[in-house]
Amino acid sequence: MEKVLDVMMLGQVRFHELSMRGRVVLSQLPFNVMLLLVCAIAAIADASVFTDPGFLIGQGIALVILILSFALPWDRLPYGLFLVLPILDFVPIGILHYSNADSLRGLNLLAVLPIMWLAGSGFRPRIMVPIGGLASLLIVWVPHFIDGTATPRTLAAEVLIPFMLFSIGIGTSVMTLSAMAQQERVEELLRRSETRERLLDTVLETVDVGVLVLDEEGQSAFMNAKQRQLYVAALPEGVPTDREEALLVFREGSEDPVPPDERVLRRAKAGETVEHEVFRLGRGAEARTVSISARPFDDAAGKRAGTVLASADVTDVVAAVHARDKFLAAMSHEFRTPLTNILGYAELLQDEEGLSPAARSDLQIMTRNARHLNHMVDGILAAALTGDEAAAIRLPLDLSELVRQAGDSSGPEAAGRAIMLNVSTDGPLPVLGDRTGLVRVLDNLVSNALKYSASGTTVTLTAAAEGRWAVCTVRDQGFGIVAEDLKRVFTRFQRSDAAVRSGVPGTGLGLALAKEVAERHDGELECTSEVGVGSVFTLRLPLRVPPTWSAPKR
Ligand code: ADP
Repeated sequence: MEKVLDVMMLGQVRFHELSMRGRVVLSQLPFNVMLLLVCAIAAIADASVFTDPGFLIGQGIALVILILSFALPWDRLPYGLFLVLPILDFVPIGILHYSNADSLRGLNLLAVLPIMWLAGSGFRPRIMVPIGGLASLLIVWVPHFIDGTATPRTLAAEVLIPFMLFSIGIGTSVMTLSAMAQQERVEELLRRSETRERLLDTVLETVDVGVLVLDEEGQSAFMNAKQRQLYVAALPEGVPTDREEALLVFREGSEDPVPPDERVLRRAKAGETVEHEVFRLGRGAEARTVSISARPFDDAAGKRAGTVLASADVTDVVAAVHARDKFLAAMSHEFRTPLTNILGYAELLQDEEGLSPAARSDLQIMTRNARHLNHMVDGILAAALTGDEAAAIRLPLDLSELVRQAGDSSGPEAAGRAIMLNVSTDGPLPVLGDRTGLVRVLDNLVSNALKYSASGTTVTLTAAAEGRWAVCTVRDQGFGIVAEDLKRVFTRFQRSDAAVRSGVPGTGLGLALAKEVAERHDGELECTSEVGVGSVFTLRLPLRVPPTWSAPKR
């Protein structure tokens, strides 16, 4: 009842939130309130109606209907049965109208209330609205039949008001049905969005990727279980903290915490898009290596709504790569000693006198292949050494000189393959570098140019200054590299199908290492190639600026 009053006072509770009984009572109540008003009007206009049996019976029936609306268990009765009440309401209206139409005018207009209830319930409107219209017609026609005054003229004179009431019923019904259809659609949308939300929640909690959502103010709006785990890994031991700067975040291979401004969270808050940056969270055995990406997202109106951060735990992958490199390093170390022995003894044997030409030729083949194997083992070892081990001491070097040496040392191989090797250098090119590393890069580029070219072609080596760069190019007229392979030519262990098919031996490591060496020198290594025309590899290293001498001030 309290809730019924609350609705009537336009309070917090909405009509559809009431119980079935509440709704029935609230629909009946206005009719009885109107009848109370009729009593009040009668008291002033014509008190004699209070002794009129028709008036008293009409009021009595209306009261019984109100009591029924309270008393019956509408929740348990079939839905729609409550519409018996508005239909019954027409009876007291009819009696009141018949017995008091002269003293109290307009009593038949009370029919507007049950008609609106019938139409507004939305239940079987095609039946209920005509019933209401018919009942209001009977209210005005029946008295004529009882009194014997029913003529086409008298009956026609009464039709206007029932017709208006019927129209009100239709209008109410149309509005109710449209509101109901709209509500159904809203509920359907709500159901769908709830299902989507649950789906999203399940996906986010199932995937093995940490997800953090920041709202437009940069505050954390959502964090899945995996992200919480990663967050815990980054917490300094025994220090629960909310301060982002205190979290233990390192770059791979460094023990210095990443400065706050370089941390992905901070950059993401500033609206930056981050792609797969690798960090280590925490220290010791519990540390996790993660690859973090961050992307801002907009709302439907195109306004920045927040940022999503995704952290993939790549600890196992990184450990596997380290294990592979360690294995390669150990394996190539182990291969070196016996290989050096084989090579040494094969060379010694060649010096023996009295060897048959056939045996000498066999020994030469053995030596060549052992050298080749040695070269491959060197490459694998260099690939396995990363980080600090690979950083060599930088010395002042002349790139032109290194290029000339590479040409000289490859001369015999070029001659053996009947390939013309041209070397042209343009004065000294001072650079700061690791001699072994750079020699290996140049040797690799020249050796590839020779390996992947047919006899009778030309390989050209040039070295020249270009702006602040010392630039070396190795150009061949070989098979060339198809566009698809060109994209991966600097990826470790990648060899083109053409190279594999041609039977040219190789590991697919040389160019990857060469690029790493170039980048370690703050330089670049690039390749352009055209199938059937040839390839050009360009190595750029920063020219060393000699220290400037300034005259001492007098
Ligand atoms: P490897 O030569 O040991 O296979 P590299 O890393 O030096 O390994 O080269 C990778 C691949 O790139 C080669 O297998 C070959 O397919 C291609 N490639 C490299 N240099 C050339 C070149 N000058 N011409 C054509 N293809 C080349």
